[in-house]
Amino acid sequence: MIKFHDVNKHYGAFHVLKDINLTIGQGEVVVVIGPSGSGKSTLLRCINRLETISDGELTVDDVKINDKRTDINQLRRNIGMVFQHFNLYPHRTVLENITLAPMKVLGVSRQEAETTAMHYLTKVGIPEKAKVYPSQLSGGQQQRVAIARGLAMKPKIMLFDEPTSALDPEMIGEVLDVMRDLAKEGMTMVVVTHEMGFAREVADRVVFMDQGQILETSAPKDFFENPREERARTFLSRLL
Ligand code: ADP
Ligand code: MG
Repeated sequence: MIKFHDVNKHYGAFHVLKDINLTIGQGEVVVVIGPSGSGKSTLLRCINRLETISDGELTVDDVKINDKRTDINQLRRNIGMVFQHFNLYPHRTVLENITLAPMKVLGVSRQEAETTAMHYLTKVGIPEKAKVYPSQLSGGQQQRVAIARGLAMKPKIMLFDEPTSALDPEMIGEVLDVMRDLAKEGMTMVVVTHEMGFAREVADRVVFMDQGQILETSAPKDFFENPREERARTFLSRLL
């Protein structure tokens, strides 16, 4: 579903992604971990071309994303993204936040968009919040709306960039539960997170990044019980 082949990226003189090779299959859940500044967000943002790669090849669903002929809007329709800060439209209700893109981008009717929105709001556990504004919700609820909004576009891939990092501790679980359900249903997911419990339990593979490189790609059990790389060991020991 996603394939990085010798991908490099520079920000000016700064080499942020170094020879990235990574293949993610359909339905796979990959958790990306690593120190701050190691390039995790950049890696994620290349997948939906919020960032362009400098060289190498990146294909998503067999489409070369760095090819000029690729329709980026078409590509992005298939990829949902959830950020640390939920990025909901503050002056729109929850329902409007979810129906806007399907109506505008996919051209579905308001009625159909609302039915779909209610389906996903129910799925994330807050159908009763449809008519309220984001400011009336807790952080955990806002993030669940953001996930519902992503799902309403019926994407093939969901990207999560530290989705629980801005949440109060008591709200982290409710968001991770939604993500766990999504993983069980077979969604292809790439998740940057510091939630090691989630990584251990839900990930098919853990990718450890440091200084722009992927240093290790392992099954979670292997990674957590016996990390191969010294820097991964150091990283994990600091989390405890
Ligand atoms: P992470 O998500 O792992 O914390 P990022 O991908 O956000 O790391 O950033 C990796 C490195 O690239 C950091 O050193 C950051 O300062 C740098 N960086 C990120 N975005 C830009 C940008 N737009 N221009 C220049 N440098 C950037
Ligand atoms: Mg980041």
